Amino acid sequence: MLKLSQAHYDALRAHGEETYPHECCGILLGHVGAEVNEVVDVMRAGNTRTDSAHNRYHIAPQELIKAQREGRKQGLEIVGFYHSHPDHPAQWSTTDFAEAHWFGCSYVITAVAQGKAAVTNSFLLRGTSEEDKQFVDQEVLVLS
Ligand SMILES: [Zn+2]
Repeated sequence: MLKLSQAHYDALRAHGEETYPHECCGILLGHVGAEVNEVVDVMRAGNTRTDSAHNRYHIAPQELIKAQREGRKQGLEIVGFYHSHPDHPAQWSTTDFAEAHWFGCSYVITAVAQGKAAVTNSFLLRGTSEEDKQFVDQEVLVLS
């Protein structure tokens, strides 16, 4: 399960609307648990991929390092990542899967249909290596 506040849920969905028709992306900080990934902070990241920002996203290594550093100060770790799919379903693509390397982390995808945030789904990256990794559907619990 992925647990996050209504404000954080709204923020990551709004980010996708703002960057439409391009993808947005960001980092989720919080606590990784055996059953629950809890989001405590949401950090926007710049989409550094200029070749096709509408269907590819990329978080620069420097941004990841910065997020880890900022998080550590608050006792938080990276619990996941989010991005948007402009005019595409909220399902992971083969590229999303190939580029997912954070085991135990949540990968949140929001479909943005004609500029409006639609479905938001989360996928947990299970496994221990590139060979046995898999995405599994993860329940999203929004705390109001
Ligand atoms: Zn994607």
